[in-house]
Amino acid sequence: MNPDAAAPDPFAAFPGSLSPSRANDFLTCPLLFRFRSIDRLPEPSSPAALRGTLVHSALEHLFDLPAADRTVARTRVLFTEAWLELAANDEASARIVEAELGLGGTVDPAEVAERVLASALPLLDTYFALEDPSRLEPHARELGVSVEIADSFSIRGFVDRIDRSPAGEIRIVDYKTGKAPGSRYEAKAMFQMRFYALAWWRMTGDMPRMLQLMYLGSSEVLRYEPTEQDLLSTERKILALREAINKAARSGVFAPTTSRLCDWCAHRPSCPEWGGVLPPMPPPHLWLSAASRVDSPFESSGKSDSSGKSDSSGKSVGTAPFGAASASPQG
Ligand code: SF4
Repeated sequence: MNPDAAAPDPFAAFPGSLSPSRANDFLTCPLLFRFRSIDRLPEPSSPAALRGTLVHSALEHLFDLPAADRTVARTRVLFTEAWLELAANDEASARIVEAELGLGGTVDPAEVAERVLASALPLLDTYFALEDPSRLEPHARELGVSVEIADSFSIRGFVDRIDRSPAGEIRIVDYKTGKAPGSRYEAKAMFQMRFYALAWWRMTGDMPRMLQLMYLGSSEVLRYEPTEQDLLSTERKILALREAINKAARSGVFAPTTSRLCDWCAHRPSCPEWGGVLPPMPPPHLWLSAASRVDSPFESSGKSDSSGKSDSSGKSVGTAPFGAASASPQG
């Protein structure tokens, strides 16, 4: 061993990758990023997030069916199947949903399943008001994307749906079970979509023609046609974010940033801004790959009502090339 050799920089490759969720964490509150990506503090699931996961599952499997069978009734069956699977395999999550519906003492599984389905019916019905799935043949569903955009740094995530028109144009679609954001918060959601568009572009060389956010909680659709300049700008923003995260890692300072989102933050007991006690930073060898952890396929898919704010620069465009839209979605 050469004693003069420089010691390896333990932070050089941190973060090794980012998803839209983790990027938004840091943009929202660097301390939140630390809690989720480095400390990996547990967070209880919310009933809305769990319901969103079930809705996403139903909409994903809807396209396994022949086009003529993609009906509201079949989607309700798929939702119920997803619920029964959750109830069988994840008792803690099932109890959270049941408690929200006041079903704590209910023992009849059929009655519970019926009530859980009833709580999601408006979302499922709204989906069918926004588009006709019998007219779509998605190119991909719940697609994991990951691509290196700089040395030892990748962007990654899960895309709800990718459509390809007969002319080969790509539309990236994301379902949100919450309501469409006000204009002040639109940039956040469209950042997620640009993130996916950049990943797709870098993976395939094809610039997506359209980005589409479907808000099932308010029956609205936001669409945006990205340009090369948009995606290059998004790439610069992500790389700058990586630098900022790396700088925070080297200094050990992930500053808390309070906002109204603190009201929903599960980590207030550990947050000095709320009188909590900051846990000691885990040693670097335990967290250097932390921000590269694999997210749930549904984590960045609008499973919760508070996710999703999109960019006011988004413009509504026609859906004809992709052959969907039974209704006239609002931009
Ligand atoms: S409570 Fe607020 S300031 Fe503290 S970690 Fe959570 S989001 Fe950040």
